[in-house]
Amino acid sequence: MSETSVLTRAEAVERHRLLDVRTVHVDLDLTLGREVFGSTTVIRFGCTTPGAGTYLDVKPSGLRRVVLNGRELDAAALRAGRFPLTGLAADNELTVEADMAYSHTGEGMHRFTDPADGEDYVYTQAFLDDGPRVFASFDQPDLKARYTVCVTAPQQWTVVGNGVGRQVSPGRWEFAPTPPISSYLVAVVAGPLHSVRAEHDGIPLGLHCRRSLAAHLDADAAELLEITRQGFDHYHRAFRHRFPFDSYDQCFVPEFNAGAMENPGCVTLRDDYVFRSAVTDTEREHRAMVVVHEMAHMWFGDLVTMTWWDDLWLNESFAEYMAYRVTAASTRFTGAWTGFAANRKTWGYDADQRPSTHPVAPTTVEDTAQALQNFDGISYAKGAAALRQLVAWLGEEAFLAGVNDHVDAHAFGNATLDDLLRALAAASGRDVHGWADRWLRTTGVDTLRVTDGRIAHTSADGVLRPHRLTVGHYRRTAGGGLELADRVPLDLPADGSGARPGTAELTLPNDTDLGFVKVRLDPGSWRTVRSSLGAVPEDLARAVLWGSARDQVLDGELAPGEYLELVAAHLPGESSVHLVDAVLSFARGFVVDCAVPPAGRPAALAGLAGVCRSLLRRTDGEPERGEPDRGEQDRSEPDRTGLRLVAVRGLIGTADDTRTAELRDWLAAGTVPGGPELDPDLRWLLLLRLCVHGAAGEPEIAAALAADPSSTGEEGAARCRAALPDPGAKEAAWQALFHGELSNYLASATAEGLWQPEQADLLDELTVRYFTELGPAAARRGPALARVLTAVGFPVFAATERTVRAAEACLADPDLTAAARRGLVDRLDTLRRAVRARALAEG
Ligand SMILES: [Zn+2]
Repeated sequence: MSETSVLTRAEAVERHRLLDVRTVHVDLDLTLGREVFGSTTVIRFGCTTPGAGTYLDVKPSGLRRVVLNGRELDAAALRAGRFPLTGLAADNELTVEADMAYSHTGEGMHRFTDPADGEDYVYTQAFLDDGPRVFASFDQPDLKARYTVCVTAPQQWTVVGNGVGRQVSPGRWEFAPTPPISSYLVAVVAGPLHSVRAEHDGIPLGLHCRRSLAAHLDADAAELLEITRQGFDHYHRAFRHRFPFDSYDQCFVPEFNAGAMENPGCVTLRDDYVFRSAVTDTEREHRAMVVVHEMAHMWFGDLVTMTWWDDLWLNESFAEYMAYRVTAASTRFTGAWTGFAANRKTWGYDADQRPSTHPVAPTTVEDTAQALQNFDGISYAKGAAALRQLVAWLGEEAFLAGVNDHVDAHAFGNATLDDLLRALAAASGRDVHGWADRWLRTTGVDTLRVTDGRIAHTSADGVLRPHRLTVGHYRRTAGGGLELADRVPLDLPADGSGARPGTAELTLPNDTDLGFVKVRLDPGSWRTVRSSLGAVPEDLARAVLWGSARDQVLDGELAPGEYLELVAAHLPGESSVHLVDAVLSFARGFVVDCAVPPAGRPAALAGLAGVCRSLLRRTDGEPERGEPDRGEQDRSEPDRTGLRLVAVRGLIGTADDTRTAELRDWLAAGTVPGGPELDPDLRWLLLLRLCVHGAAGEPEIAAALAADPSSTGEEGAARCRAALPDPGAKEAAWQALFHGELSNYLASATAEGLWQPEQADLLDELTVRYFTELGPAAARRGPALARVLTAVGFPVFAATERTVRAAEACLADPDLTAAARRGLVDRLDTLRRAVRARALAEG
């Protein structure tokens, strides 16, 4: 990747002052082979100061021609992605002809060959500053323009764009001009796509995926379209402004880095969301949430766009908050807020307690590189939780009135946080700016600790935030269970005066999870939790309790063994798939693999396997009698199919080397006894576990790949090969990961296979090498791969002081790229927490 400049805020302000971009015509030629595509852009724009100069953003592999107002310019003037323009007129026409390179990292125009059938697919991801890798532009969010896109593609391809498209001659596609949109939202998806088309409320709808996934998309099309319709109906009730674009296509694309991208009328989503294998209903719920998240962006992000990247969070937090709200209120997934509590919020809590944390709304984001680093659990999960607090405080009506006034005032334009706060303040008559100063301009999580009948309200940064929560008081039932005695509102001011939460067998602040806080119970209530967590009625309240246990482990306040005791006692009876999945994943990923000392790990892993086996037994045959007494509030049937699937995955993943015969039997029989039958995902999971223990090898991997020659099959094979307990296999994986050209997805799979806590001795030398080879590899492959190498690629299981020191030394290297540095800082924080937890376990 060649060096390109990052746009600074000051430069963006200056260019905005100077230019008025009116129309952009983009013409792409996708018939030039597999390496490059043709890109011709014609930009018509005004200049407020005739005679002045500026520059154009373009990152081509070859710049063929630049013509400004009929004057041919020297293409060699291009420097680091910027082309200087001088002597601008009041009205200008600029033509740029270039060859652009396809990418394999999900940035710019990604090109993918489907191993299932050899077909090629391409899609753009212009987000942040990758647009100029596709077409020349004045690439900043507040220079909106009307885009007309034309594409020449192989004749058998379908092309999807922002506006309604039509094929005007074989292989030639033209798209309707867009309303004014930002350059980072322009999108094209192309290939021999499989499409499902529908219509709702006058809006043409499309679902698209690669051909090899056609049957799977068809199987889910009704569900996806129903959620889309429910989303539109909800948003059309909530917003005064109707859906502002001419069509709504959702394209499921391969090797996508994010969950999805909100290109107006041409949303791209990772095609893992086209399920090939059995999934739980909570996984379907997550997909529904992503679908309505992107829809929220059509208003918030696309119709009204942030002026500069410092308000990126405003897009994401708003979409995230609306997504959970719409999913819970308007789709069949009424338990979506439990998913938010159990899974999504932990992303925000973790991010907010690391050294890299930042305010939800940073006051300064100096350039695009910094903006990219802020695209994290703070912008999504904490921001959404903060908005939920704001709604609890303002009331729904005032919140929506303010949002609507804001959207009306800035439709097809740009706005800032201050614009939104003023609209909310006017609609509610409240001091919204004061609230924002406390919640959005600070960092850190407040802790509410109940001691001596009081709530002590503290925070790591010394700044307290006001909270509007509830407290649940739970009492014993005659049968020995727990029931809600009463639930009372709790308003905690930001002055640290605390509150009296009342007393009960179990007193639980934030029991409805309206807050973004850490909760520490009084000793009596914690005793009740240890004996009776599973008997607490309502999924959300149990999610808050499991969350409290989780962050006590991360904070070094609860020993790993005690957490695992809680899991062993209360997870086998748990009915919420959200909670079983989240708790198993933390118990395995952090507690057993990192925090338990190596000598205790086999027993801890076996304990977790026992929990999975209990869950599995519970879902055998008919529903059982005598489940924990959950009072009157929570009598819904658990999702047995989902629970069983999570238990099976857990049981496979925790298999030690004494259980490989059992796994082989399942693989041979093609089913887990009593079900489910093995689908491709379960087969790869089983084979991976066998490979980890050396109980399967290359012949089995090759046979599995022959049976499933898909892209996920290739990822499964890469994961299995990297997991083999053999120095040659490890070295091959290492070379591919750090010195090869793996795509983003294959790199992830390889890294996941590479590090196995069971193979600590074999991997010892590589954990040292990691820190010397990370920097050069991250620099060579760019930010998306740097994130892979520092996330799943980081050996966090090696939780020792030696690894901590090696990571610190690596961070001292001034040449480390921004993305690698940020990833390393975050993993080092997790590593330090693991080291501290191990010390606590060792007493
Ligand atoms: Zn988003």
